[in-house]
Amino acid sequence: MGNGSSIDTSKTIYLSIAGKGEKIILSRFCGSRDIHDLIAQVAGVSRYSGITLRDSDGALVPISPSMAKNVASSPYEVNITSPTLANIDLDGLGGAGDGEAFKQVLTHVTEQFSNSQNVDLSRVFKVEEMRSDLTNRINILERRLELEGLKAVEIEKCKRDISDIKNQMLTSQKKVIDFNNMRPMYYNGCYSALSDERKISLKRDVPSYPKYTLSQETVNYLKQPTFDIWHWEPNEMLSLLEHMYHELGLVTEFNINPITLKRWLLCVQENYRNNPFHNFRHCFCVTQMMYGMIHLCKLWEKMSREDLGVLLTSCICHDLDHPGYNNTYQINARTELAIRYNDISPLENHHCAVAFKILSNPECNIFANTDKDVYKRIRAAMTMLILASDMARHGEIMECFKAKIELGFDYQDKEQMETLKMVLIKCCDISNEVRPMEVSDPWVDCLLEEYFNQSDREKMEGLPVAPFMDREKVTKPTAQIGFIKFVLIPMFETVAQLFPIIDSTMVEPLRIARDRYENMKEKTVLNTSGKKDDS
Ligand code: 5GP
Ligand code: MN
Repeated sequence: MGNGSSIDTSKTIYLSIAGKGEKIILSRFCGSRDIHDLIAQVAGVSRYSGITLRDSDGALVPISPSMAKNVASSPYEVNITSPTLANIDLDGLGGAGDGEAFKQVLTHVTEQFSNSQNVDLSRVFKVEEMRSDLTNRINILERRLELEGLKAVEIEKCKRDISDIKNQMLTSQKKVIDFNNMRPMYYNGCYSALSDERKISLKRDVPSYPKYTLSQETVNYLKQPTFDIWHWEPNEMLSLLEHMYHELGLVTEFNINPITLKRWLLCVQENYRNNPFHNFRHCFCVTQMMYGMIHLCKLWEKMSREDLGVLLTSCICHDLDHPGYNNTYQINARTELAIRYNDISPLENHHCAVAFKILSNPECNIFANTDKDVYKRIRAAMTMLILASDMARHGEIMECFKAKIELGFDYQDKEQMETLKMVLIKCCDISNEVRPMEVSDPWVDCLLEEYFNQSDREKMEGLPVAPFMDREKVTKPTAQIGFIKFVLIPMFETVAQLFPIIDSTMVEPLRIARDRYENMKEKTVLNTSGKKDDS
């Protein structure tokens, strides 16, 4: 804990993995899934593996936040079983036509459009913890009780749930949240990572991730969009990010204390959650793609080093503390975040607020040595870029960018450069399909896993479900074809008008990906109709 005065709420669990002793520390905010993923990480296996724990008597121990503490001399035996990743059954689902794919993408983008407006950042929040979220859940359960005429056994379960939730409310109502004091925040059924004090006020000493010596080959490869982002452990990703700041001259530009840079990166990493998609590796991907574009397009010829620093830093911060449920969910479920930001880009506002909360700690402030005016400029620019990453604003931003290009783009014009920077962060944010197939393909599984988690929850809570998130309606090719054809290719083609190198390095791989998914879809359709003929 940062100040030594807080109550230690973490729990240590000792494990034995293939005879080797390991120790994990669970914060009280860990969910079962987080614990499972952590054990998988320690065991060096895929997080999709099945994991069981047994105590010294051979009894199974459930992986859950309430699991019993143990001692080093009596660790839980970890057994890894076959992977449990629910692969999407491409054969079993009829492929949607192009029109259908287009509609899905349009629904996806336009659905979010409805939330696009300008934003006002609030800084201090005093709200009653959990209250609205739990009241919401009670209402849903009570509505189900009234409307659906549930069977007796279900009614009993609903009653128990309601009573549990009411008890939680009674306890939680006693607490008042004060964002500035970093007391627990609750929204969306999860504690915010921000609430874990260690995450913000950590690492007063020199951070201790190992120093990697990067080979010349790695350093060159890091500038390419073909870079294999799956190859690196979290600590290695930190070193690669650190390298980018040094290599681009940002450490000199902002007079960054190199130790502060390390501390800041660690703190950022800790404030990404273990979501299937919106996790620290996604942050790394987006940033690495920006680094690649900076080099491919020689952006230093067109913009200042301060601009480059803003671009890179915005990428690193752009999805901080993402809860794994999108804005539509936040708004429909009336979560704390949606209420706090009045349904206006709640997530992006939150990512940005977390970014500046981290920077407000001098120990982690990479911009601490800049003038007040420079800091002010950086803050305004980063806020603008992180807020621009809300896909609900995709059409608006692209129209504005295209209009500027048609008139003849002026790199000296402040407003035009702002739009260019917004488009650049947008490109990097959704650029997985620009990467080689081996690298991009697993990301689609990750995205669909997160989508399906959301839609399953929406079904459970009686909220509207977007078709593009519904496991009954989406397949890998249908998810990607429309997105590549109607969102990615047009956007990258527009950027290629300013930077022709983008056509061969980024648009061409997108065309290849589109064709590959179209073939995949055709095969799926053929397989399905073949099966029907056989029967
Ligand atoms: P983010 O949430 O990462 O800041 O914003 C990007 C959004 O674009 C994602 O949440 C996701 O909905 C969408 N997106 C990004 N990459 C892909 C992709 O490869 N396929 C599809 N279908 N959607 C994507
Ligand atoms: Mn993102």
